[in-house]
Amino acid sequence: MKAIVYHYVRGHDARFSRPGGIRRLEPESFRRQLDHLQQRLRFPDASELIEILSGRRSPPEPSAVLTFDDGLRDHHQVVYPELRSRMLPAIFYVPTAPMVHGSILPVHAIHHLLGAVEADTVLQDAMRWIDAHRDALLADHRDEYLYRHRGAVPQPAAALKRLINGRRFLRAEARRALTTALLARHLPDLDPATIYMSRENIQEMSAHGMIMGAHSMWHDSLCELDREEQREEILGSLAAMEGLGGPSVRTFAFPYGGFESFDGRAVELLLEAGVDWCFSLDPTEVTAEQLSAPRSRQFLPRFDCRHFPHGAEVGSAP
Ligand SMILES: [Zn+2]
Repeated sequence: MKAIVYHYVRGHDARFSRPGGIRRLEPESFRRQLDHLQQRLRFPDASELIEILSGRRSPPEPSAVLTFDDGLRDHHQVVYPELRSRMLPAIFYVPTAPMVHGSILPVHAIHHLLGAVEADTVLQDAMRWIDAHRDALLADHRDEYLYRHRGAVPQPAAALKRLINGRRFLRAEARRALTTALLARHLPDLDPATIYMSRENIQEMSAHGMIMGAHSMWHDSLCELDREEQREEILGSLAAMEGLGGPSVRTFAFPYGGFESFDGRAVELLLEAGVDWCFSLDPTEVTAEQLSAPRSRQFLPRFDCRHFPHGAEVGSAP
């Protein structure tokens, strides 16, 4: 079975159109990709899907499951109507801090900032903020950070994404404080409600058979957190997703998702929390063998939509 992950699915928006910011799949490309996939693969319905992914039934072949990460408003506005009209089920993985606290997550703050403002300007502002908040830098990486980011930076957008999303240069709270400061300066009117689905949107989709899963609270890379922080991110997000209706399953997807983004401790926590299955990111098929063991169900691989026809996103850095 092929599991496929999508992120932004939206049309052009002149305010956030700088390359290197928001990488989005055009709605028309999304529809064409669905046409392509539906001609070739079987899509089990929601109850069959739950049985398959919980290891109680073998996946039919060839088959597929669609997943949508990050709780984006696009998923309610663009994706959900399209799936409903085709009677396709899907799984939506929601980071819960936006729903619970009304926050804009650092990962999406950077996408919007880079989509709207010249990358070098944002990076220089970030550097000034860090100069004024030296204690925000983690000691382990302080020297490396200072070495890497001094002087001319050939790819400011990439450097900024590394700073916020990549290696752990900054404490998690500092990452949030920094992106909050950058948003206040450059995009003071950016409303979280224009980025994320609301609780009501999620409830509506659940009521119509869509499967909702947790995607941590703050979308930090789990392997960068200590065990207590990992526990909070996993259990806190699972708890926030409970009671929103829909099929009762416990499912999770790792933020970022690659094998460098989680570790054995996180897998143990998922097993302890009774998570039925969890997705990572790795372009290979989900096999019956992986589905048969509770442990290997905690890192089921997913393809990115770009691995299939019509799945190329627009807005990547040049
Ligand atoms: Zn994500």
